Amino acid sequence: MSVHLKHVFDTLLAALGPQHWWPGESRLEIMVGTVLVQNTSWRNVERAIGNLRESGVLNLVALLDLPIQELADLIRPAGYFQVKAKRLQNLFAFIRDDCGRSLETMFGKNMESLREQLLGIHGIGPETADAILLYAGGMPSFVVDSYTHRILARHGWIGYEADYHEIKDYFELALPQDPQLFNEYHALLVCVGKDFCKRTNPKCPSCPLIRLLPSHGIIEPA
Ligand code: SF4
Repeated sequence: MSVHLKHVFDTLLAALGPQHWWPGESRLEIMVGTVLVQNTSWRNVERAIGNLRESGVLNLVALLDLPIQELADLIRPAGYFQVKAKRLQNLFAFIRDDCGRSLETMFGKNMESLREQLLGIHGIGPETADAILLYAGGMPSFVVDSYTHRILARHGWIGYEADYHEIKDYFELALPQDPQLFNEYHALLVCVGKDFCKRTNPKCPSCPLIRLLPSHGIIEPA
């Protein structure tokens, strides 16, 4: 493991503790959560998933055939509910038509080919695809988000212009292909992004990564 990235990880884990991600009682629930969490808070996702559970449809048999308007109404608390219902239906259609209605079959696929297939589903971008692979599938696919980008760029570890796959490679080429490590690492970075490395007014003095900042402080975008 890269000494630098291991040090970052160890520093975060020591300061913040295990994050116990992804919150969800099943692989299906985790997958639904990865789509619902786009552009909203986790609190809203929990309300939407609560509606699905209370309605008795938080299972593959029910969800694969649930009419889209019923699905949209149930996930309304997550926002953009019509769009997200369509995205979920696209994902369910993939499970139904390309995975024999089976998550075992889906996650039995080779990770790279499954990732390509997920990226081919309308509404599933790299972050959602990687979250599905890592958190629902237990596969070693590092998840990158805007928090990760900001933290790394502010420290000068990557450039502000780096794209998703450059940042993903930055971790994957330096770390062992360990799903549990990737799981915890991403969760810790999200915690730092939410609580310290805010878009405006970052709270460096209280952040666990302050000692890893350059001596002149945050690197600003050019
Ligand atoms: S030390 Fe500052 S720049 Fe670095 S992660 Fe923390 S808040 Fe962000």
